Amino acid sequence: MKASRGKKRRFISSASDQEGTPLSASRTAFGHIDPQSALREVSAICRDHGVQFTELRQRLLLTLWASSVPMTAYELLHRLEETWARTLVPMTVYRALSGLLNVNLIARIESHNAYVSRSTRSHPNASVFLICTQCKSTIEIQDVFVEERVNESAGRVGFQVQRSALEIHGKCARCLGGTKLDLGAP
Ligand SMILES: [Zn+2]
Repeated sequence: MKASRGKKRRFISSASDQEGTPLSASRTAFGHIDPQSALREVSAICRDHGVQFTELRQRLLLTLWASSVPMTAYELLHRLEETWARTLVPMTVYRALSGLLNVNLIARIESHNAYVSRSTRSHPNASVFLICTQCKSTIEIQDVFVEERVNESAGRVGFQVQRSALEIHGKCARCLGGTKLDLGAP
């Protein structure tokens, strides 16, 4: 079945191959824009939320932007140790990730115990993560309709939603042999 067009859904995260060094990444969660300008944007977001945008957080973000698959904290730690020539302890990485989670610059994929980058333009509770069971690529889409329905259903039982991130498992277009995804900027 062909994907329907015209729905208010936009592909936000990059689904590019994992390639290159993080600092030379040319594709980011923002599409094909310059990582340096994206870094300036997220730096301002951190400042507004009182979160320090440390060099470690910057490198974590760049690494996740360059990856199309979720990465565990230990994978991130090892990748940074390779590219940064610095020894890191897990607690430091977890603390840095926690700050990025708090300002919604990354998301935790519970089923993989791993992290993905997300767009600054995304609405956290409208996020749906499409996770390929074959290549593990993960795409974040925004679906406000899902958010509204979840809020309505939760509200009927007196529950107030504070945070949600739906994870949908299946096969991506590339693994299905279909057409390339449209990864244009939102
Ligand atoms: Zn796939």
